[in-house]
Amino acid sequence: TEAHLAAMAAARPLNAFITETPDRALAMADRADARVARGEAGPLEGLPLGIKDLYCTEGVQTTAGSRILEGFVPPYESTVSSQLWRDGAVMLGKLNLDEFAMGSSNETSYFGPAVSPWRKPGSNAGLVPGGSSGGSAAAVAARLCLAATATDTGGSIRQPAAFTGTVGIKPTYGRCSRWGVVAFASSLDQAGPITRTVRDAAIMLGSMAGHDPKDSTSVDIAVPDYEAAVGASVAGKVIGIPREYRIDGMPAEIDALWAEGIAWLKAAGARVVDIALPHTKYALPAYYIVAPAEASSNLARYDGVRYGLRVPGRDIAEMYGNTRAAGFGAEVRRRIMIGTYVLSAGYYDAYYLKAQKIRTLVRRDFETAFADGVDAILTPATPSAAFGLGEKGGDDPIAMYLNDAFTVTVNMAGLPGLSVPAGLSADKLPLGLQLIGRPFEEETLFALAEVIA
Ligand code: GLN
Repeated sequence: TEAHLAAMAAARPLNAFITETPDRALAMADRADARVARGEAGPLEGLPLGIKDLYCTEGVQTTAGSRILEGFVPPYESTVSSQLWRDGAVMLGKLNLDEFAMGSSNETSYFGPAVSPWRKPGSNAGLVPGGSSGGSAAAVAARLCLAATATDTGGSIRQPAAFTGTVGIKPTYGRCSRWGVVAFASSLDQAGPITRTVRDAAIMLGSMAGHDPKDSTSVDIAVPDYEAAVGASVAGKVIGIPREYRIDGMPAEIDALWAEGIAWLKAAGARVVDIALPHTKYALPAYYIVAPAEASSNLARYDGVRYGLRVPGRDIAEMYGNTRAAGFGAEVRRRIMIGTYVLSAGYYDAYYLKAQKIRTLVRRDFETAFADGVDAILTPATPSAAFGLGEKGGDDPIAMYLNDAFTVTVNMAGLPGLSVPAGLSADKLPLGLQLIGRPFEEETLFALAEVIA
């Protein structure tokens, strides 16, 4: 814990943490030492972790990367983080993220962008760590924490993992409790870890997963021994390759990496087959209707009365308006406007209802592939390697949204998806491959990822 606190202090320019909690960390580490001495060590005893600042932590500021929550100190602990503490882990602090997890580069954070520890050879230009879990990915890649929690609504675990050479898994929707995790789009949000190795991801997910009566969408089925799956044979597993993920303009090196991944899995005894996921291209536009719709509803609670920031006005309506105008950044305001528009009486059928129908078609594409015997699907994790700070977004939000093309399908279908580092780009930056599994079969993903890693 002391070594990690020192590394954090030396790496402040990465802006990976919004809040550091050194006193709490040292006290937790002391308690871990005492439990070890008594022979009562838990599965994560003494392991120093970072927590994405979207998870409520009792007594520690939780901002969701937003000004509107600055100074908000939750009186309760999220279920997932409380399970990590139950198992002995130590909290180093709260990690930076895009505001309310809306973004793919960590640049929408009110607290400034987290920066990747990676550089192109011969260049000192800062690169994005991906988003929204950019602080989690940067901190794990820079070895500021052993592992981190993250969340994934449309790729926010898998894309930053791919950009930083780390492992990230978004488990099946319902595998982890969402209780105490600030809501973005409730039907898509899932908790998961970002780690340095596949085995670490398996160990972390084992602590994070499980049924929680406080989240009615968490599923009451046993959590398997994920670690046992790491290193298990993949002989005879059927891997589907969806040609729809070979999109126009994708760099040749991404295609080459994908081919390498196929070759590694074949060499390990897996059988590789072509599959069709015909509705893939509609998933991204449909996601950018469904996610803002749910966000606009979830963010209605930030009114200056109950949490964080309050900007006074002459009456309560003006106070609401002033607070929300000052408290939310540009991307969050854009999502609220898109969301309220697609849910409004005149446009509901044309946009929201249509997007929900597309969501069903996307899910059925996957169901058909699995019914035909496919055990997992292999795709690139992202259409490119990490880009420079300030390079995307700005006046063109669509350029940023296109980063999510390969990852949002998985959230729309509620499936587990894992990103594993698989190689380097021509610029010597990490590239990831994505494995998509059947519902609640995360073990298969861990076994396959260990072959690629
Ligand atoms: N980049 C996507 C978005 O901005 C996904 C974010 C996420 O998974 N939290 O909506």
